[in-house]
Amino acid sequence: MPAVIPSVMLTAIPSGGTLGVIGGGQLGALFAMAAKRMGYRVEAFSDVADCPAAHHCDRVHVGSFDDPDALTAMADGLDVVTFEFENVSAEPLRPLAGVVPVRPAPEVLFTTQNRGREKAFLVREGFPCAPHRLVRSREELHAAAAALGLPAVLKTAAFGYDGKGQRKLDATAGPHEIDAAWNDLASGFKECVLENGVEPCVLENGFKECVLENGVEPCVLENGVEPCVLESGFKECVLILERWIDFECEISVVAARGSDGATAVFAPTRNHHRHHILDISSTPAGLPESVIKKACDMAAAILAKLAVVGVACVEFFVTRDGRVLVNEIAPRPHNSGHLTIHACETSQFEQQVRAVCGLPLGSTRQLAPAAMANLLGDCWVNGEPDWAAALAVPGVSLVLYGKREPRPGRKMGHLTALAESVEEAIANVTRARSLACREKDSDAAGAAPSADATGLRDAGT
Ligand code: ATP
Ligand code: MG
Repeated sequence: MPAVIPSVMLTAIPSGGTLGVIGGGQLGALFAMAAKRMGYRVEAFSDVADCPAAHHCDRVHVGSFDDPDALTAMADGLDVVTFEFENVSAEPLRPLAGVVPVRPAPEVLFTTQNRGREKAFLVREGFPCAPHRLVRSREELHAAAAALGLPAVLKTAAFGYDGKGQRKLDATAGPHEIDAAWNDLASGFKECVLENGVEPCVLENGFKECVLENGVEPCVLENGVEPCVLESGFKECVLILERWIDFECEISVVAARGSDGATAVFAPTRNHHRHHILDISSTPAGLPESVIKKACDMAAAILAKLAVVGVACVEFFVTRDGRVLVNEIAPRPHNSGHLTIHACETSQFEQQVRAVCGLPLGSTRQLAPAAMANLLGDCWVNGEPDWAAALAVPGVSLVLYGKREPRPGRKMGHLTALAESVEEAIANVTRARSLACREKDSDAAGAAPSADATGLRDAGT
């Protein structure tokens, strides 16, 4: 049960109130389903009308995530706003936060949506993470590679997901490979030079990282170049080089924190990636109790330090010598927490509703060992999946997100299996997915990860 700290809880938003969610993807849809079940109205903000959340919301506001006016216009009639993805800049959310509570606050998004700021937060607060350097030029990248040593991974600071915006530098990489990685990832930086303390940076895809912070100069567009000065010296024309961690496994911890500071932590899931996309999550994670406790305590402490009101997920690397390093933080429910829908007394989405509405957090107790397998668009290559075959496997449940177009790599839904043991849950969910996707035995061979500590490494960026 969550520890309850003396209450400064805000008045709870009663059923019948209206909750806003920024983003209309599957996380918004699943949040809306939980909120509707509890008697709330839900309105989503999305850049497309026909989004997964639209099937479950009372209203969809369509607009650009960069448009503070469109976002603020959403506030009318809302009691609280939360978000379901972090690739919306924090800045346009600030005016909205002036008229309706935004939970978690835009500051949380500001810190976590940029790997440079996120790492600085972790270092400042003493949370262990991979050794890293920020790099703003080819020369700095070469220097960082020499200082950190190889292998390492070069990442864009912002707007990465599912391993996009990353290049691995192998142990044998030489100057040529380092240059190539720079060219690949920095090609979006038209210009990245410091001029009189002001950094003109224009990023591709219209992503402006010129963020206005308290006491920092305004951003104005001059000749198509946006001069921006960011707080505490952070430059946004930035990549980050991280030392490659030879981890034993990856785990993540989803946790919720209420406005009164009460925290509820779900058991860590062990995560297995395929082609850089989460493939299977399972729990219990099969790790020593000391490692589990370290990860759970750290997740709770990170939510507290960030003053999160809502749900967040902390991804960790567990090293072979039992160290637990923070990889990244997502200030919202997470794909690896989807198994809580069927496996826990309270799902991560109900927990999000409770947290942002000022209600007591629910029990995170797990009902049975569980495993979740993602269903990507690839599953549709052999025609409509055979759901009947999948659902005939004991303990298996299906969740589809209502996306029309099953593109390869697109998250279309997931399967969850509950079983007597986590090994059985993983085996059953893997078999159910193979049956659904009409895979031949040869396709499925090797796809099922083992639950032991050594069998779950198929990541690599
Ligand atoms: P997602 O959206 O799936 O969480 P992401 O694009 O935000 O991914 P990361 O989580 O940073 O990116 O990296 C994706 C995966 O790449 C990690 O789950 C891990 O498997 C691998 N990886 C990233 N950084 C490192 C590292 N320093 N050492 C070893 N592996 C790494
Ligand atoms: Mg990640």
